[in-house]
Amino acid sequence: MTWNDAIATVHEAAQSCRRCGVCARRCEVLGSEGGSLTVGELAALFADASTGDEVAALVSEQPHLAFAVRRCCMDGYCTLPCPDAIDARAVFAALRELLALSGVTGADGFTMTSVDKEWHIFSVYRAVYGVYYTDLPSLENARDWGCDTLFFPGCSLASYAPDLTRDVYRWLSDQGMVVALSDACCGSPLRSGGFADRANAHRSLLVKKAIDQGIRRVIFVCPGCRDEWEAVPESSALELVALPQLLADAGVQPDAGALAAMAGTDMPMLTFFDSCHDRDGRFGRPLRRIYSQHACAECAHHGADALCCGAAGAVSLVDGPLCDLRARRVLNDEPMEAGAQLVVANCPTCAYTFAAFRRSAAGADGGPAFCQYLEPLFEHGFDWPQVFSQLESMWSGEFGPWVCQQLL
Ligand code: SF4
Ligand code: SF4
Repeated sequence: MTWNDAIATVHEAAQSCRRCGVCARRCEVLGSEGGSLTVGELAALFADASTGDEVAALVSEQPHLAFAVRRCCMDGYCTLPCPDAIDARAVFAALRELLALSGVTGADGFTMTSVDKEWHIFSVYRAVYGVYYTDLPSLENARDWGCDTLFFPGCSLASYAPDLTRDVYRWLSDQGMVVALSDACCGSPLRSGGFADRANAHRSLLVKKAIDQGIRRVIFVCPGCRDEWEAVPESSALELVALPQLLADAGVQPDAGALAAMAGTDMPMLTFFDSCHDRDGRFGRPLRRIYSQHACAECAHHGADALCCGAAGAVSLVDGPLCDLRARRVLNDEPMEAGAQLVVANCPTCAYTFAAFRRSAAGADGGPAFCQYLEPLFEHGFDWPQVFSQLESMWSGEFGPWVCQQLL
């Protein structure tokens, strides 16, 4: 997105909005802005700016506006019932881009997630701890191996659970597929920093590489990655597949002993945490089929009404307590109201967020156990204490200076 595209998105929202107030009542960010501020009203404040200086002047006079934009997690929940079909996710992404292009927000806090560069938090972590997949076909050499299928586990799974990633890769191969594996990021972290043009270029390059390498089908663990690929027009040449669909169709079932061990009780009541990128249910529906032999309860917000796990939009950089509130709501409050003892998370990054919340002071008082949906289905899982310990210790010791050089 460029300045013109971003301002056009904002302008259109400002003009379309009938100011009904529905969105403001559905969001703690909008609702806390002087009583209430609708998406359309916020857009209208920025819509007349024709230069970066004008945006900078606006937020200099009203800094709470920039704060509101940065506190939005871009889950799009507020405008789901919008009578004018305004999409808050697109509007806030455009507003973030205006702030970045105006120099109001910079790269601070986003260097580590510059996932279109060689070195970012995920590639550095993999290098330091020897997480490589160089023995497997990759996105770069899939054609040489005769692969027509690409497995796209996403950053969190590929980096923090390499054994589980390989379990899934093996399972796909056992189904008769000739599979390449990509450890690339889908690019969505760039969008949080307002770098939409880089995010778009990054995902377009992924799609182009896949097509050039003769890939016909891409298998996703996470709905957010799927969304990034699907937004590239050329991806219509590819079959974009939700991994849960394949698992459900193959009759894969969770291990009852693993569920009991994770929950700390026999035959636990399960619930699902659906990603806010899975409002169409293409992951959540087959997941419920996979777990249908076990008692399951639904949280108040699920499926099309899913809420943010607390990680989206890199809001933690500006408002940690708000992220804690979001994580607590979906990991503790709603599952406990539903009587659940184990929360099965749709996306690996949501599982990372839950693990980070539980080890923080805000989340240390406990709540239901959680897992990522693959863990009860395969031999290996995430070892979150080890992941966090390694994430902390890589800044010192043998690789410390190199890590600092790449990420700071
Ligand atoms: S729900 Fe839609 S029309 Fe109503 S105030 Fe929000 S953006 Fe405007
Ligand atoms: S997209 Fe989510 S966080 Fe942003 S304003 Fe809407 S409901 Fe609030």
